[in-house]
Amino acid sequence: MIHHHPADDLLLAYAVGAADEAVSLIVATHMSYCAVCRARAAKLESLGGALLQELPPVPLNDGALDHVLSRLDQVTPYERPRRPARADGTPEVLRAYIGGDLAQVRWRSMGPRLSYAPLFKRGKVSARLLRGAPGADSGMHHHDGTEYTVVLQGGFTDLTGSYGPGDLQMMEDGMSHNVVADPGEDCINLAVTTGRLKFDSLIQKIAAPLFGF
Ligand SMILES: [Zn+2]
Repeated sequence: MIHHHPADDLLLAYAVGAADEAVSLIVATHMSYCAVCRARAAKLESLGGALLQELPPVPLNDGALDHVLSRLDQVTPYERPRRPARADGTPEVLRAYIGGDLAQVRWRSMGPRLSYAPLFKRGKVSARLLRGAPGADSGMHHHDGTEYTVVLQGGFTDLTGSYGPGDLQMMEDGMSHNVVADPGEDCINLAVTTGRLKFDSLIQKIAAPLFGF
């Protein structure tokens, strides 16, 4: 049962192709667990695309459309997968980054009960896997930049709640928290750190009728 979903603006950015590779990976990984968001993203993609096409050619005086279109041009082409997780529990979208399933990850130790495996780093954007034994404690830490986490196995708890497989957590720039791995099996997370996402006002205009703002 998924309790923590991407915010609407994040799902919309993904659906219209405005999210970068790292954020797309986070959303796609969540969606491999979440049929609700798969359906929502598919709907947003078709509605958002139609609305973009139907906009009058010179509707805005603030260059918002040009800005959005230039951003779309900057996005690295990325095939957004829709397939659900395999039976072994490794989301299909992650397999290309890991080079196989979770059992094949080569973990690097960060202490007796915590380990990690880097997936990629592009400038300030990085994606990695984090693993904690039951009861492992990250210690209180501060977030520089926005961090998105999706649980792949096990679970964790912090001051914002408890997170299990498929749940997505967003920690905004400047937030602090202390993460403790839940009892049971090891907690394995996909974590992406990125700059602050700014969504254009045009995206908000597209979102408004869809979400009933
Ligand atoms: Zn969801």
